[in-house]
Amino acid sequence: MARKLYPITEVAEIISASSHIISAQSEINTLAYDTRRLRFVEHALFFALQGLRDGHDFVEQAYLGGIRNFVIHQHDFPMDNFREANFLVVPDTLIALQNLAAYHRRQFSYPVIAITGSHGKTIVKEWLHHLLAPDFLIARSPKSYNSQIGVALSLWEMADHHQMAIIEAGISLPGEMEILTNMIAPDLAVLTGIGAAHAAGFKDDTEKFREKTRLLRAAKKYVMPEKLFSAWQAENLSNASKGEGYFWNWEHEPTGGINCSLKCPPTCSGAEDVRIMTEPLTLPKKDRFYIENAISCWAVLKMLGYSREIIQDRMTDLPQQEMRLELKTGIHPSSVIDDTYSNDLSSLRIALDFLAQQNQHPLKTLVLSDLPEVETREDDAYAELVQLLKDARLDRLVLVGPELTKRQALFDTDEILSFADTRSLLERLPQIAWANHSILLKGARKFGFERISALLTAKSHATTLEIDLNEVEHNLHYFKSMLPPAVGMMVMVKAFSYGAGSFEIANLLQYHQVAYLAVAFADEGVALRKSGIHLPIMVMNPDPISFANIHKYRLEPEIFSQGILDAWIGWLKNQQEEEWPIHLKLDTGMHRLGFSEDDLPLLMKTIQNQKEIKVKSVFSHLAASGDSALDAFTQEQINKFEGWAKALEGKLDEPVLKHLANTDAIMRFPDAYFDLVRLGIGLYGFGSMNKHLIAPAIQLKTHITQLKTLKPGDTVGYGRKGVIHQESQIATIRIGYADGYDRRFGNGRGYMMISGHKVPTIGDICMDMCMIDVTGLHVHIGDEVLVYPDLQEQAANIGTIPYELLVNVSQRVKRVYFYN
Ligand SMILES: *Cc1c(COP(=O)(O)O)cnc(C)c1O
Repeated sequence: MARKLYPITEVAEIISASSHIISAQSEINTLAYDTRRLRFVEHALFFALQGLRDGHDFVEQAYLGGIRNFVIHQHDFPMDNFREANFLVVPDTLIALQNLAAYHRRQFSYPVIAITGSHGKTIVKEWLHHLLAPDFLIARSPKSYNSQIGVALSLWEMADHHQMAIIEAGISLPGEMEILTNMIAPDLAVLTGIGAAHAAGFKDDTEKFREKTRLLRAAKKYVMPEKLFSAWQAENLSNASKGEGYFWNWEHEPTGGINCSLKCPPTCSGAEDVRIMTEPLTLPKKDRFYIENAISCWAVLKMLGYSREIIQDRMTDLPQQEMRLELKTGIHPSSVIDDTYSNDLSSLRIALDFLAQQNQHPLKTLVLSDLPEVETREDDAYAELVQLLKDARLDRLVLVGPELTKRQALFDTDEILSFADTRSLLERLPQIAWANHSILLKGARKFGFERISALLTAKSHATTLEIDLNEVEHNLHYFKSMLPPAVGMMVMVKAFSYGAGSFEIANLLQYHQVAYLAVAFADEGVALRKSGIHLPIMVMNPDPISFANIHKYRLEPEIFSQGILDAWIGWLKNQQEEEWPIHLKLDTGMHRLGFSEDDLPLLMKTIQNQKEIKVKSVFSHLAASGDSALDAFTQEQINKFEGWAKALEGKLDEPVLKHLANTDAIMRFPDAYFDLVRLGIGLYGFGSMNKHLIAPAIQLKTHITQLKTLKPGDTVGYGRKGVIHQESQIATIRIGYADGYDRRFGNGRGYMMISGHKVPTIGDICMDMCMIDVTGLHVHIGDEVLVYPDLQEQAANIGTIPYELLVNVSQRVKRVYFYN
């Protein structure tokens, strides 16, 4: 058996539930909490968790989907409506999930390595897996499942056939690590490093340090960078620790390699002397994060007794890429989800979930390589794979590799293509119809699926706009958490979602069930409908020319004047259409679009008893919600809006939704929440304040094309504007004003970032390229350059705002979406 089965009665005991059991024979081996991700329903236990939405609202859907076992916390839940279901009732469903995971973890005596830190957790986990996989069958957190729920699900992956587990732990609030530590009960704990990311939940750095290191204090052995040793000593944490502590450090060798050291001081071990070991190591990359992550791994392997030779040998091919799913626009048209980094069942499951969320094309293809993990397992792992693919409802399955090809008959997808290796697939690639498919490429590294990806995705321009969908999700949750439960969200996806892409962002918002989307023009709404978005969509500039499309694609116009109202009513009359949802825009001070106070009497008269339309919402827009100097004006707008909206509502039979707040107002004016808020730029991690609570989700990146050493008196670029005063190294990079990189950034007014260093521009910005001064840095052709390390500040430097820089990123720049 792949996974341990727990009788439902045993589960009830483990989580101390009061139970309502109809069928005591039920057995559990799968945990579920999201009805959009239901797989393996037969042995599933559904936890009604309190997230963006209340999990109890989804019990019915889960029941219809075939689940028969539930953990809930509402004592008065109508259990009798679900005649075949078992219910376990607990005070807190999340704690119950965590207790069950903790219990499960304690069924295994093999070592558990836990990793925490502000950065590098996922890569260190993946690298340790890579380094230890030749000797151990390892259970590990899928992707970056490191949260309060993620760790529980990761531990649940542990099974009898494993010999080791590697679990990632991430926290953002005090108190969370204690829960994770109790669940994981680590044998060996690793702290990768501590930085500023998501620090806002903590009072100060000391509190954050104490919290994060809780995991280490509970482990038999722990390891961290030596630069944290003084903080560790200052807080007197050695004495509070159970185990033996190790601290690593490193320095460059003149020969180009590095020298690593590992120290176990007396205060952390009880030994009399400081025990130090040092070793040289050669690594393929020179950037600091790479080196430090590799040394974290080196230290763990030393603690496990590995020799230098073995470590050095296995470190020569550490996976280069970060482990993440990339969603790209394919040629044909199609979408390509690229996951060419590893292939095992748990990461396949997540990638298939992501594929299932893609609605922009009607068909779904999975290109799958042999799975090394499945081959080494002796149990019926192939049965698990077959079921997984069956549940994924694919239209086409492309198998690559001898093991899968041999087993083609096991799979029942309608269309199956098999290839002995990647090369034979590449040869046939042009003959296969890819149009209108969402294509998931899931291949173990040695299959080199990135070659397939390169052929299926077109743009080769080396500048990309990367959108981290996890951060977008994080921000969405953050704003949601600020609102009272009854307040809904309309999310502004105008102008290609502020440049971030159209259906990709809308898809995610649909998945998270926001109440409304809004676009600027009908065309944008039509495009969203065509890619499978069925949420209500408000169109802010409904031109009479676009009425037919608004009607055909079930879009809802913003009505901002009597003229447009009359025209729309007339059009609807012609079509004999009734009760079409509209949104009334009031001008309370912005003076852009909207009805002003004088227009209200006629407006009220028109909307009364007008059967063609149905006033769905009344709204207005704030002119200065981010500027505290103008707060009195904003308050005035809020008051006006409230009065006018009430008056309008009084003339209608039914209540209407009222909305006013944009991102800055969500942050600053709870008075402006009403029934909906309109979230815009905050979704991408920008806004006028609280910079560290929301995370930038968008990164514009380019690469170095050429490097030159120039002498005093030389000049750079058109018009000889960039003058060299001392010997300098200048890099040419592949971004210019045609990509949206503003010419005002030229001649040092703009800066970029290369492996953590700020570098200024030099000379004028050209159309497709520009030059930066990288003097004194060890950079190479092909190195990555972050164009906007601090968008807010950089926008201010040239007198503009982040909004403009984002939407100016030209459509020729390839958008790449990540999902961990
Ligand atoms: C763009 C827009 C918003 C969103 O504003 P942000 O500052 O990006 O949050 C809200 N309402 C209207 C009418 C808008 O046009």
